[in-house]
Amino acid sequence: MEYREENVYNTYSNFLKEKFGEKVYKIPIKQELTCPNRDGNCGVGGCIFCSEEGGSHENLSTELSVTQQLEKNIGYIGKRYNANKFIAYFQNFTNTYLPLDEFKKNLSDVAKPNVVGISISTRPDCVSDEYLEAIQLYSKDYMITFELGLQTVNYKSLIKINRGHTLAEFIDAAIRIKKFGYRVCTHIILNLPWDDMVDVIECAKILSALGVDEVKLHSLYITDGTVLGEMYKNNEIEIISQDEYEERVINFLSYLSDDIVVQRIIGRAPEENSLFVNWNTSWWKIRDNIVKKMVDRNIHQGTSANYLNKSFEIKSK
Ligand code: SF4
Repeated sequence: MEYREENVYNTYSNFLKEKFGEKVYKIPIKQELTCPNRDGNCGVGGCIFCSEEGGSHENLSTELSVTQQLEKNIGYIGKRYNANKFIAYFQNFTNTYLPLDEFKKNLSDVAKPNVVGISISTRPDCVSDEYLEAIQLYSKDYMITFELGLQTVNYKSLIKINRGHTLAEFIDAAIRIKKFGYRVCTHIILNLPWDDMVDVIECAKILSALGVDEVKLHSLYITDGTVLGEMYKNNEIEIISQDEYEERVINFLSYLSDDIVVQRIIGRAPEENSLFVNWNTSWWKIRDNIVKKMVDRNIHQGTSANYLNKSFEIKSK
């Protein structure tokens, strides 16, 4: 078998191509927002890894309006890749943590003919029915996806990273979003210093049992000026090896239901201002290693997902 990612997991690019008949590009939109875990509403200082950028590494200016950012990037990416279809991606901070009117205005600003989907990054504790209802107007013409940051299903690690919500809020948000018929993408960091392989496998099982639609896997990105950065400089945390990260991804995918779309298996982040990123290795080299190991070992997404809808043979007395 060829060493290709689509041979071992359900890739996002294939999913989009099948759904829309051609390549689709995500256009990040960056706004002046904040997050209840930074402004004191549910926490102060944010997650211990969160920088001032609020989870986005894209170099877009927030001085441009939503429409301007979209038009500028569609013009550039459209020309460069000969692309015709796009997903408007509200990427940084918590995009449902703003007044409902502003949220509605954002949605109406991205509703354009060559936009086929709207993706909204947010926190699980910022997803209420009121906001979900506001999107219904767009759900007929656009693929609506909520990108929920969870990072880990280990609720003790969630406290350690100062996440400000627990696993319960994530489960509630995922069920609530699915009830409205929208898609759920879950962001996970597979190498938090407090997690081990048991957490990784349980994470794949919980996401599969919940029926989330997509996952996005990251490795820890440690920037200077964050609480995690300080812990790293003071040798208070240990980072697993690249090889162990690859093993975690392989196990995660093996336990993940094969109908879940995998947006990515390793994060991409700039090196400036970073203390640790991807073991100083290109993200695609790590991805290729994982794919090669999976092909060689005959493992693919869902190989170990036999725990779903499980029933035991009942022996008659
Ligand atoms: S939820 Fe996101 S934006 Fe808020 S503190 Fe955590 S990483 Fe930063």
